[in-house]
Amino acid sequence: MSEAERIGLYGGTFNPPHMGHERLAKACLEALELDRLLLIPTAQPPHKQLPPGSAQGVQRAEMARLMARRIPKAQVCGLELERSGPSYTRDTVDRLRQIYPEAEFWLIMGADMFLSFHKWREPEQIAKQCRLAVAARLPDSRRQLERQAEFLRQELGVCSRIVDCPVTVLSSTQVRSHIPRGRWKGELAPEVAQYIQRQGLYQADPLEPLRREAKARMSEKRYRHTLGVAETAARLAERFGEDVYQAQTAALLHDLTKALDYEEQLKLCGQYGIITDYGENGKALLHADTAAALARREFGVSEEAAQAIAYHTTGAPGMTQLDKIVYLADCIEPGREYPGVDKLRRLCKKDLDQAMIFSLRQSIEHIQSKGGRPYWRTQRALEDFLAKKETGS
Ligand code: ATP
Repeated sequence: MSEAERIGLYGGTFNPPHMGHERLAKACLEALELDRLLLIPTAQPPHKQLPPGSAQGVQRAEMARLMARRIPKAQVCGLELERSGPSYTRDTVDRLRQIYPEAEFWLIMGADMFLSFHKWREPEQIAKQCRLAVAARLPDSRRQLERQAEFLRQELGVCSRIVDCPVTVLSSTQVRSHIPRGRWKGELAPEVAQYIQRQGLYQADPLEPLRREAKARMSEKRYRHTLGVAETAARLAERFGEDVYQAQTAALLHDLTKALDYEEQLKLCGQYGIITDYGENGKALLHADTAAALARREFGVSEEAAQAIAYHTTGAPGMTQLDKIVYLADCIEPGREYPGVDKLRRLCKKDLDQAMIFSLRQSIEHIQSKGGRPYWRTQRALEDFLAKKETGS
């Protein structure tokens, strides 16, 4: 009896496809001894919005095709682009199973996707049809991948394999921001770079207007801090599978109104209908709400990013992963120096909830040591994280 065909399924936005994608594909092809590799451009990823200035689906498919020509046995599969609505892997795998009833499927992904796999739609159903192949996106994340592989095995019966692949610290978000400055060398295959140039893609960095705005509204020192927060938020978002563009957007705007005095803050509150119960803490805290309102109304940022801005100083119960990333990036960006910051940086690499507990505790103790009263939401945020830790949820 002949062996089942081994097929790698590699989905992505490919906006644009870069050398990190190509190296992962080639490493999997070899390590898994694949007979066929399907590159599957996503129409609408369920976990992130396509940022402004993105390439169209047909253009992303064409770039994936150009990459496929560089990879033996690779071809582009247009299934997801043909469907409308969010591209759920579950649906794609079901359809591919009809086309290849006997094949052995390997679902290929980077660490960020693997670490959030249990949050995908019906992951246990996907796991019945496919094994997972994952590679690190950052040099020091192997342990984290091993822990997740064990967790997925126990909880969802997932069979996974960590593939040895040269780590390429690179994302499409980074590439897009390098293209307008011509700094994409080594990040893109020449064929893809040529296509981008011919089509005039990605010529404007969508974050540039936000950077300009931030720079105009703050001191040199605060602007440096802001860039540090944006860079750190991007790294954390990549590590934990969060939307990098949203994380950078929120980070770039988080301190937009911090330089304003209290009177001006109150004026903005009146203008945007902001009501708070900060009391004596108002002077220190209002800027988060006014920046969130400005980001929402003047810059049209998503509700998720606006909330992350609003919570960046106090935290809140029920924080989303994006909220945590922006809060923690603000605490650990490279310019921060205070006792405990290195420990917090280490925690941020492993577990965002543990890092939040550490940081919220520090913040509460710091306020109390100065005779102040921490805002109730910070206390509630801490209780919320501690309760989650206890129940393991
Ligand atoms: P963006 O920056 O726009 O969020 P991205 O670089 O993460 O994009 P995607 O097309 O969303 O690229 O990624 C598709 C798949 O490829 C995902 O599973 C992702 O984890 C993986 N991947 C992307 N970049 C790398 C890389 N540098 N190394 C390994 N895997 C990667």
